[in-house]
This record gives sequence, C-alpha cells and structure tokens, in this order.
Amino acid sequence: MNCQKVIDSLSDDLDGALPWHRLATFWIHLRLCPGCRNYVASFSLTLALVRTTARDVTSDQPPEIPCKLVDAIQAARK
Ligand SMILES: [Zn+2]
Repeated sequence: MNCQKVIDSLSDDLDGALPWHRLATFWIHLRLCPGCRNYVASFSLTLALVRTTARDVTSDQPPEIPCKLVDAIQAARK
C-alpha cells in the first residue's frame, strides 16, 4: 500500500468499511510511514472535533474519544 492509497482509504477506515486485509496493510503502512501517521493523526483529530462539535452541544457528557484517534496520536508521537 502506498501513501496515496492510505489517504484514499482513510474515510473508509473511519467508517469501519475497510475489509480486514486492507485494514491490516493500512495500519502496517502507518507504522512504517511517519508522513502518513501525521496525516492520519491530524485528519482524525479534525474529524473528532467536527463530530464532537456537531453533536450534543447541550449535553453535559464529556465527548467520547475514538480508540483509533488515540492510537493514531500515540503512533505519531513515537
Ligand atoms: Zn505513507
């Protein structure tokens, strides 16, 4: 999998729509490619912020942080 395919797969991955074999190569590529890790981390963060802001503005509950977002951020910091 190359960088462009990772970026193309990103929205499918976040929707949980990627088949497992593509998901595996996606995450393997992310582990090996710092550029894509940074891209995914910023993309995920943006998406999480948009979802959090768009949802439950009146709710007192703290926003749920997606596991994939945490993983992507931790991976990008290594
Ligand atoms: Zn890459």
